[in-house]
Amino acid sequence: MKIICVGRNYADHARELNNEVPTEPVIFLKPDSAILKDGKAFYLPEHLGEIHHELEVVLRVCKNGKHIHEKFASAYYDQIGLGIDFTARDLQSKLKSKGLPWELAKGFDGSAVLGNFVAKETLGELQELELRLEINGSERQQGNTRDLLFSFEKIIAFVSQYFTLRQGDLIFTGTPAGVSAVKPGDHLQGYLNETCLLDFEVK
Ligand code: ZN
Repeated sequence: MKIICVGRNYADHARELNNEVPTEPVIFLKPDSAILKDGKAFYLPEHLGEIHHELEVVLRVCKNGKHIHEKFASAYYDQIGLGIDFTARDLQSKLKSKGLPWELAKGFDGSAVLGNFVAKETLGELQELELRLEINGSERQQGNTRDLLFSFEKIIAFVSQYFTLRQGDLIFTGTPAGVSAVKPGDHLQGYLNETCLLDFEVK
């Protein structure tokens, strides 16, 4: 399976990092070895510098497809969850400034944290999902999928022109504003429409 991620998909987050608001989705991949799940603790890779949290809605692909039309894209994911796209921000900035790929800053072990998934039918309007991250009980990120620059369907249509989607692939759909560094002892809890789907600690 593969993990497909969308960068800069909320305008407020693109601006906070002084990036242009994109006209096409910004796509990168993480290896499957990046997955951390079942509420296991995230051990900070201290040799990588500052590690930022990025709370994101994650889609689980439920059937294979390529060149998927936007109109049919909603049939290609059946479950939705929350994840953290951990990012080695210092390293990413260095790579970006040299025009190099981001993988080392985005694909390290534990950088794709997954919470619980729920059937998309149980969530109501998917264009109005509230996502929120609390760290040690205080709100740090908050967003709503109505502010996505590229909808779930647009992402699937775009990505599937390049990569065949396979059942079990995951799509991280981008983070709203509020990213910052985590530190040992932090307790992260992610809420989707007020339901806690993600809960783990940083060590
Ligand atoms: Zn991200």
